[in-house]
Amino acid sequence: MEQKPTLFLDRDGVINRRISGGYVRHPEDFIPAKGALQAIGQLTPYFSRIVVVTNQAGIGKGMMDERDLDAVHRKMQALVHAAGGRLDGIYFCPHHPDVGCACRKPATGMALQARIDFPDIDFKNSWMVGDSAGDMQLGHSLGMRTVLIEGKFEDSAALAAMPIDYRFASLLDFAASFIENTVVNVP
Ligand SMILES: [Zn+2]
Repeated sequence: MEQKPTLFLDRDGVINRRISGGYVRHPEDFIPAKGALQAIGQLTPYFSRIVVVTNQAGIGKGMMDERDLDAVHRKMQALVHAAGGRLDGIYFCPHHPDVGCACRKPATGMALQARIDFPDIDFKNSWMVGDSAGDMQLGHSLGMRTVLIEGKFEDSAALAAMPIDYRFASLLDFAASFIENTVVNVP
């Protein structure tokens, strides 16, 4: 039987509502995107690993710290669990965009770290779902299938110039299509 794929998820704009020009600094700022928790619950049995990769430059800019982010992520994990879903790992880049680190998307550092932690991850059998040009570039760089959740209009020009495999209005729409089109044994 074919190995189940890995799902890489962007956070802001995919799992929760994006705060345009701002950051989710506190748990109360973390508002799930419509249907996203249900979607992760539906997708969970189809993937061997589900990994979040998120740029959180608000830390590098001094607008929040890692304790704030940890509190946000504990809320996210609790909500996902309550919806019957699973997140195997949450990777974040805390750096200011000007630092030029190896982890801020579109760089691939967070996904490479996930594969170190979960050696069964095969990028050729992985999906990257995000709303940004950086997400699509990361997925493309590592040979993943790329899924754009539409809505980040600031990136429209960059996205128009990129190879993107699938486009959906929401994570829930992706889940419905993925499940309908996938033939795997789900325990
Ligand atoms: Zn970084």
